[in-house]
Amino acid sequence: MDFQNNQAFARQLDKEDPLRQFRSQFIIPRHKDRDAIYFLGNSLGLQPKQTAGAIREVLDQWSRFGVEGFFMGEKPWLEFHRQLTPSLSTMVGAQSHEVVAMNQLTVNLHLMLVSFYQPTGRRTKILCEAKAFPSDQYMLATHVRQRGLNPADVIVEVQPREGDSLIRHEDILAAIDRHKEELALVFWGGVNYYTGQVFDMESITKAAHAAGAKAGFDLAHAVGNVPLQLHNWDADFACWCSYKYLNSGPGGIGGAFIHERYHTDSSLNRFAGWWGNKKATQFLMEKDFDPEASAEGWQLSTPSPLLYAAHRAALSIFEEAGFENVVAKNNRLNDYLWFVLDDIIRDMPPNSVRIFTPRNRSEKGCQVSLAVKNGREVFAQLSAEGVFADWREPDVIRVAPVGLYNTFEEVWQFGQIVKKAIVTFAA
Ligand SMILES: *Cc1c(COP(=O)(O)O)cnc(C)c1O
Repeated sequence: MDFQNNQAFARQLDKEDPLRQFRSQFIIPRHKDRDAIYFLGNSLGLQPKQTAGAIREVLDQWSRFGVEGFFMGEKPWLEFHRQLTPSLSTMVGAQSHEVVAMNQLTVNLHLMLVSFYQPTGRRTKILCEAKAFPSDQYMLATHVRQRGLNPADVIVEVQPREGDSLIRHEDILAAIDRHKEELALVFWGGVNYYTGQVFDMESITKAAHAAGAKAGFDLAHAVGNVPLQLHNWDADFACWCSYKYLNSGPGGIGGAFIHERYHTDSSLNRFAGWWGNKKATQFLMEKDFDPEASAEGWQLSTPSPLLYAAHRAALSIFEEAGFENVVAKNNRLNDYLWFVLDDIIRDMPPNSVRIFTPRNRSEKGCQVSLAVKNGREVFAQLSAEGVFADWREPDVIRVAPVGLYNTFEEVWQFGQIVKKAIVTFAA
């Protein structure tokens, strides 16, 4: 269908949108006397209206039953995680016993490296993307150091080519091949947080395995954004957070995927805690750790039912909408955003604004990253007009309209506001 960059057309798209009623399930921040344009689903997803009630239920259960809340009431806390795995496994493309909601993202990455980074002999290297999210870089460097290795020797970063913003897929595969004798792990982001580039996780996994290395992914910007097939891609592990596209609240509980082939592999190192022990014997308080034969066997600590409740409330909206439908709407909103931006950029002086997220559908999700001349002033102007966007040094504005609560009319409006700001400050 041919898009048009005008309000009537955007409104028509909203009218035809099968997910249009889901916006009313979220609390939209206000700007002056109207709804703000919240395009930060990639940073902190908005609060579902039902989250407060779901947390209230846990508090009530605690009031009524005290510690017996783990075993009693309508949703015993001990069983609560089972309500999370169906939608999580759908979203990441896993068997339900391959996913677990636990801890937080960076913590889980360290735990996964304990199991899946096993440097031996010459095979000590970790291949990763240059300019990964800082937490991932700190995690890798400190993890490597406590194994007695020097990060500068073993962490190999793949860079974009000179003058490029994006890493070419062929360069990733070539780097895997080049280091194949020495690679222990290929650790990659599903979607780069800065550029919005979606990586081909299936072929990265295949190449890593062909090189004799493990393949693990950070899905912080991928889960709830783009379709994933971790099991079929044969990934070894993956981790994600739940507060970005999953709308489960600031500091929400994280998640991990561990391929089923490892669930009973006792040769793997792991850090253990009582929550990973077999459920049937956990409360016998016996001496030796006997892990649950699923991803749950990697849990350590008592998880918070408060965080579970917020996670459950948010995931149930994805279930109700149907995850494939959310992805379809994400794509359509994103296509419209590109159309609107292209239409605006066409009339702007060269070098005033440039989109550097890939244009191909298979290489992008919800996010669009713009490099903008005098970006700081443009960004301040967007904020003043009620647009929630994200600023990154030196000149980057990132936005990510999402299918569950953003509208086509907001995309059109955003275009008008951006155009005015660029004409004022960047042209
Ligand atoms: C958001 C994000 C994080 C943050 O990690 P937390 O442990 O949840 O604070 C880490 N890595 C990536 C790639 C992210 O996008």
